[in-house]
Amino acid sequence: MEVIKTRTIMTKSDLGNRWFGIDYHMNLYKGCPFGCIYCDSRCETYHIESFDKVRIKENALEILEEELKSKQRKGVVSFGTLSDPYNPEEEKLELTRKALQLILKYGFGVSIDTKSDLILRDLDLLKEISQSNSVIIKISITTYEDDLARKIEPNVISSTRRFEVLEELRKNGIYAGVLMTPVLPFLTDTEENILNMISKSKQVDAKFIYTKMGMTLRTNQREYYYNALDILYPGLKEDYKAVYGSKHICNTLHFRHLMELFLKRCSEAHILTDMDAIIKDYKKEIPQNEQMSLF
Ligand code: SF4
Repeated sequence: MEVIKTRTIMTKSDLGNRWFGIDYHMNLYKGCPFGCIYCDSRCETYHIESFDKVRIKENALEILEEELKSKQRKGVVSFGTLSDPYNPEEEKLELTRKALQLILKYGFGVSIDTKSDLILRDLDLLKEISQSNSVIIKISITTYEDDLARKIEPNVISSTRRFEVLEELRKNGIYAGVLMTPVLPFLTDTEENILNMISKSKQVDAKFIYTKMGMTLRTNQREYYYNALDILYPGLKEDYKAVYGSKHICNTLHFRHLMELFLKRCSEAHILTDMDAIIKDYKKEIPQNEQMSLF
């Protein structure tokens, strides 16, 4: 396991309420081995070379503890914006688990994005944090079809298993829902997929489904995706090129129709879809240090 040097772990989020109300984000690992063909962490903006290889950051937990101690404002810390915090190495390294223990100790909230069932190992900590703080778990699922998921997310557990994970979280009182991003043009942008995603989410009591009904195709990410399409679906790359050219934001072809259908069915199922509504529903006022309240 390669160890890389770092001086900071947590950074203040400039996404704020635009992305699940997170206040800080951090990535304990660099790189992700799950192999999703569409992953936007591969784009050049993030400068992550050899993205499929997991590396750990030297003294990550010590640095994190110092940062948590010194932050003037407590808030929600996001795990896994650029890499899944429950990659297979986490099973033995337990960096994510130990970071959750620190989050609990210093009174912060947590937001986690994952495609792994390893998150269930940490149910005890998530339950404890959520007693006094904000917890939101986003299980990333792009298709209800296990066969399709196996192709586009080759090293990830099945979609069926991911819905089971979500069900287990909800049964334990954890605020959790589905991150349905991306929606891939020509592959997952069907009424059938959208409707099944909603009905399966409803069955497992998901609090929300969040989607932008499209995908990004940025430099490096696009090349990786097109190479994968050439292997999995020869000829499909040409359809993308014809429709999207060099665009970075690629909405599905039937965006308006699918979005209207999605919003209507989610509303009928009492599943939240709006970012502001999700934040209002899950985010608690986080108690600040007593010292801070004097000012
Ligand atoms: S799990 Fe997330 S970070 Fe990892 S490859 Fe898939 S999309 Fe990228």
